[in-house]
Amino acid sequence: MTGSSHPTVAERTFADKFITCIDCKEEFAFTVSAQEYFAEKGFTGDPKRCRTCYAAYKQQHPKGSSKTMKGPFTVPPGGEHLLNLDFE
Ligand SMILES: [Zn+2]
Repeated sequence: MTGSSHPTVAERTFADKFITCIDCKEEFAFTVSAQEYFAEKGFTGDPKRCRTCYAAYKQQHPKGSSKTMKGPFTVPPGGEHLLNLDFE
């Protein structure tokens, strides 16, 4: 028997993902760091909107009228649009 050495596989393998924005249909990056942040918070979904569309969305849906998020969250700089999840 030959012991072939397999490279160590990380328990969590993240890679940058590119998601198509539901509003403008442009692709935006869901970065590894953002995914890790999501995992850390226990989120399983992906963001739906790019940052630009989220800003517009947020203007139309001011804080308080949204049911998307509950509880205090620490939003990483420039990452608040990533919290724009549509939970079902
Ligand atoms: Zn967009």
